[in-house]
Amino acid sequence: MTDIVIIGAGPAGLTAAIYARRAGKSVTLLESLIYGGQIVNTPDIENYPGLAHVSGFDFASTLYEQATGFGAVMEMEKATGIVSTPEGKIVKTESGKEFPCKAVIIATGAKNRKLGLPKEEKLVGHGVSYCATCDGLFFKGKDVAVNGGGNTAIGDALYLSGICKTVYLIHRRDQFRGAERDVEKLKQKDNIVFVLNSTVTDLVGDKKLEGVVVTDKTTGESKTLSVSALFVAIGQSPDNKDFDGVVDLDAKGYVVAGEDCLTKTGGVFVAGDCRGKALKQLTTAVSDGAMAATQACAYIG
Ligand code: NAP
Repeated sequence: MTDIVIIGAGPAGLTAAIYARRAGKSVTLLESLIYGGQIVNTPDIENYPGLAHVSGFDFASTLYEQATGFGAVMEMEKATGIVSTPEGKIVKTESGKEFPCKAVIIATGAKNRKLGLPKEEKLVGHGVSYCATCDGLFFKGKDVAVNGGGNTAIGDALYLSGICKTVYLIHRRDQFRGAERDVEKLKQKDNIVFVLNSTVTDLVGDKKLEGVVVTDKTTGESKTLSVSALFVAIGQSPDNKDFDGVVDLDAKGYVVAGEDCLTKTGGVFVAGDCRGKALKQLTTAVSDGAMAATQACAYIG
């Protein structure tokens, strides 16, 4: 029986693994996709204390090596449920495997929000992308669009402005949610075109993206921007349905827990962006990871 099973190998889960391993507990990390979580999509992190500039990919890779270097074991499995037994917990996975353990940390993060447009799914990989750092280079020298007004969209637009010919930044308001300092950087770029108070209302193209229709919210007028790619960066939403009941979920689907990362079920803890909290940042994710692991170690004794 493993001491602690951690569901999700993003910054919160990997940090929890480091803390738990250093406390002498055995750790299995379950990850359905790839380690690193959302942060791998961030081209340049400049607000992580002590690291002036680091790419999300480099940060995640170092964190992964640190966790596995301390002896955490990673299994490529999608967790689908947690059950309590007299001996502890069992984490069940999509492939039918079972992972018995003494404590569980849910660190499932959040998934990219979709626009919900009819052709969106069909055009993913053919011009529609949720990751500028992964796919930006495919559109070198081309006209592209980014949708969103948070730190992700701003970071994506800055990154793409160094690769692409024109970057249309489409945002539904005229105020940005992301850091003011980065908005100022955007304004200095002569190949970024702001399309504000506007939403993407349609996608043009059948086999590949040829353009996006944007509708101005104030005038109601629509126009088509000819672009080869649309990078959707409109935030994330959690996916914790499989654990509903074992933990309480709030109206938006985030796990209900305070800064102590305790859930309503003894032996089940939560860390990172999947927890309902006021500030979702890399710093708060790793903070949760440390807290949840410390709580889990104390629970096991
Ligand atoms: P976010 O902060 O939630 O921003 C989402 C943006 O998308 C908002 O501007 C929002 O508009 C817009 N939006 C939401 N739903 C929309 C829809 N249906 N149609 C059109 N626009 C829509 O998400 P994020 O930028 O991915 O960032 C997530 C978290 O990670 C944040 O806490 C962020 O600070 C953090 N992050 C940090 C860094 C960094 O520190 N380097 C980098 C990336 C992300 P409104 O503003 O009108 O609501």
